[in-house]
Amino acid sequence: MEMRYCPGCRASRVVEQPPCLDGHEDCPEWACTECGLGIVYGWLDADTAAAAGAASSAAATRRRSA
Ligand SMILES: [Zn+2]
Ligand SMILES: [Zn+2]
Repeated sequence: MEMRYCPGCRASRVVEQPPCLDGHEDCPEWACTECGLGIVYGWLDADTAAAAGAASSAAATRRRSA
């Protein structure tokens, strides 16, 4: 079980990871179990080190499609 800040609830909520269709080893996509809001932490590539601050800087929306 994982707790994350949900911008929909404006509170820490339990989040769950939906099935990943992209084959991420460590998928950045989460969904709030309270309001169902999808939460994505930075669109990081699976092999990109999650450097502190990477997610808080402008969320890179580019996704490597393959
Ligand atoms: Zn929520
Ligand atoms: Zn994924």
